[in-house]
Parts: sequence; structure tokens; C-alpha cells
Amino acid sequence: MRVIVVGGGPAGSMLALHLARGGVDVTVLEKSRFPREKACGEFINPLGVRCLAEAGLLESVEGLGARWVSHASLFFPSGGSVSALLDGTGETFGLSLPRREFDALLLQRAEDAGAEVRQGFRVQNIEREGGSASGAWRVTGYESGKRVSVEGELLVGADGAGSVVARRLGWLRPSWPQRMGITASFRGVEVEAQTIEMHLLPGAYCGAVGQGEDITHLGVAFDYRKGDWPAGVSAAQLFIERVDRFPGLKDRVREGQLAAEVKAFGPMSVHAVRRVGDGALLAGDAAGFLDPVTGHGIGFALCSARLAAETIRQALETGDLTERALRSYEAAYRQTLGPMLRRYRGIQRLLSLPPGVLRPVGYALERCPALAGSLIRAGVEDRANPGSKHPRFSRPAFPISR
Ligand SMILES: Cc1cc2nc3c(=O)[nH]c(=O)nc-3n(C[C@H](O)[C@H](O)[C@H](O)COP(=O)(O)OP(=O)(O)OC[C@H]3O[C@@H](n4cnc5c(N)ncnc54)[C@H](O)[C@@H]3O)c2cc1C
Repeated sequence: MRVIVVGGGPAGSMLALHLARGGVDVTVLEKSRFPREKACGEFINPLGVRCLAEAGLLESVEGLGARWVSHASLFFPSGGSVSALLDGTGETFGLSLPRREFDALLLQRAEDAGAEVRQGFRVQNIEREGGSASGAWRVTGYESGKRVSVEGELLVGADGAGSVVARRLGWLRPSWPQRMGITASFRGVEVEAQTIEMHLLPGAYCGAVGQGEDITHLGVAFDYRKGDWPAGVSAAQLFIERVDRFPGLKDRVREGQLAAEVKAFGPMSVHAVRRVGDGALLAGDAAGFLDPVTGHGIGFALCSARLAAETIRQALETGDLTERALRSYEAAYRQTLGPMLRRYRGIQRLLSLPPGVLRPVGYALERCPALAGSLIRAGVEDRANPGSKHPRFSRPAFPISR
């Protein structure tokens, strides 16, 4: 039986890697040719670090020049700021790294493990043989200008927040908050070492993290309504105009020089009304994506891939690919990631408070570092794993049945 994974981002690559290591026949269909740029703040949270460690990839990722992040600094609309350890103990770390190289590494590792990887394959349509709920999948698209199709028994949509698979299945809806994100790398913009800076304004934020060799990566996100991006304005111009609104950042960015392509994505946030069905499931952003003010998207993608791999392996062993057999993935997803999602939605609500309310909240956080520390922990701490703090731990992030 063959598993077809649409999308070779962190979710698709990690899933293919786990499946291929378990001897599963898996094919990844990826529309781009790697390495490719991706709009991202380029911060990986402790959950993501844990998933990389469990997959034995941490050393290779460090080899890409990744930087450990131990602190977060919140910058408030007043211009004031407060800094705290990610988990209050100094034992939990995130990572800052270039997505371009990171995604290419993961996809290559999946291929090395035995997955078939077809880059430059843009999926356009999915259908089931005979139109029945149990027929094999036929996935059709364009590869090197030719219309081609691939058949398999199990289909995974890991093709991001705009997922073709999820949309064709009718499982994806736009969700709150609808923000536009624009990301860019700069030279000459100084940030604290080992720190992710998060600059907050009502309905907007900008993250900044150092990546070594004088490079700082920035990602700005703001509430988006049609017409907010006027015709003729480039992504770089809009980025500068928006970043200029953050009092703790604007002077530093004005002095810096753009060092890489500016990428934009939006509106962000999608809700998956379901993640599993007969012979199909969704992973990563395709399985639901909440605006990443807490820097959780990659961690969620890697974690959901690991959970999906576990369910798929069991389903293939029994030969039962029905929705009933795949439901254990939905349950594991909710159990592992549900509590974090609820906390992240709470943080989103804070950011969406009207300016007249958010400003006093900012003042309170600024004057009470313990409160700000709690907010930071709510955003990044991996509470599913109390007691296994260091990324080089050996304990799994979630129960793995053998
Ligand atoms: C502006 C912005 C900033 C962000 N900052 C952060 C951050 O700092 N930290 C964090 O953890 N997360 C962040 N995220 C979220 C993070 O980028 C995603 O959560 C993560 O990339 C999800 O991985 P994925 O594999 O599910 O999807 P993706 O990374 O989107 O990968 C999907 C893949 O599918 C491919 N694909 C799409 N359509 C097709 C098709 N039709 N046929 C074939 N292939 C297809 C794409 O080319 C892509 O390679 C940010 C997102 C945005 C937009």
C-alpha cells in the first residue's frame, strides 16, 4: 500500500521520514524545487526542538547555523520592554534558523530514509477510483509542464494553510484572526543574543531574532482587510511602512540593510472542520493554522506529523484505512496540541483588545515582570512535558506505542 503525502514542508517531510524509516512505501509530491524561501519568523518553539531531537535531527539542524534561543523580550506600545527566560528555569530552548535550508534538509532526510520525493509536482485535483469511499486515490497535477497522476491507498494533505487537499475534501475554513504576515532578513539590525523579541501593537506584532553573521530575521503581522495592500506597493515597501509603527524597532530597522527576499503570506489562520476521513488525513498547517504570534507553527507541523505517522503505521499493519481506524490521530492531536491551542487563542484575544485596553495591559506587564514571564511561558512552554526540559532529553513528547 502506498501513502501519498502532498506537500514537502516540515509536516510532509517529517511524516515521510517517519514512515520511510518504518518501511512504508511513501511518495511526497511538492510543487516547489528546494531550497525555496517561505514566509516565516524562523523561530522554532521548544515543542518543535523536542520533535527534531526525537527524530535524531538536532545535530544536522545545528549544522545549518541554527541559534539557540533561551529568552523572550516583549516590547509594548509605550516603547517599554520586559525580558524573561522562555520557561523561567533556563532549561528550555527554542531555535532560530533559516527556513530555506531547514526545509531542504528535512526533505532530503525523508528521501535518504527511502521516501520517493517528486519536486516540481503541483497537485491540482484528487479523486477516488470508482468514486467510492474505499477506492484508491488518484492525485493529479503538473510536473515539468506535463499532466501526470499518482495512485495510492492513503492520502495526506500536508500542503500548508492554503491546502488543495483540504479544500478539495471540503475540510478547511477561514478562521480568526485574519492577518497578513511579511518577513525579511536584515543586516545591521541589532537584537539581544539568544533572544526572540516580540513587539506588540493593537492588532499587530513584529518578531525579531538573530541568525548570526550580523543577520536578523524579522516578521511583521497585522490585521488585514481588503485594500490594506494598495496596488503598486511592493512587499518590501509595505514591510518597512508597517515596521515603522513599532516604537522599539523602527530606528534599528531604518539603519539596517535588507539582506534577502521579502516574503508575504496571508490572510493567515485556517480552521479544519475535520482532520481525518476514509483513507485521508491532514497534517501541519493543513490541519488548522492559528496566526503564529507564539511561534508555534513549525512545532505543530512536526508534532502532528509524528502523531500521524503513528496512526498510519498502525492502520497499515491492520489494513484498515477507514475513518474509524484513523480517528486515533484526531484524538492524539487534540490531546497533545489542544491545550496549547487554547492558551494561544487566549494570547490572540489579548492582542486583539482595543487600543484603549491593550495600552494599560502593556503598562501592567511592563511593571510586573513576573506577569510578563507568565505570559511568555504560556506562549512557548511545552507543558505536555514537565520535567524533560532540555532539548537533548530522551523522553518522547507524547506517548509512542511500539
Ligand atoms: C508570516 C509568517 C510567519 C511565521 N512565523 C513562524 C515562526 O516564527 N515560527 C513558527 O513555528 N511558525 C511560523 N509560521 C508558521 C509556519 O511557517 C507554518 O506553521 C509551517 O510552515 C507549517 O508547515 P507545513 O509543512 O504544514 O506547511 P508549509 O511549510 O506551508 O509547507 C507546505 C508545502 O506544501 C507545498 N504545496 C502547497 N500546495 C501544493 C500543491 N498544490 N501541490 C504540491 N505541493 C504543494 C508548498 O510548496 C510547501 O512546501 C509563520 C507563518 C507565516 C505565514
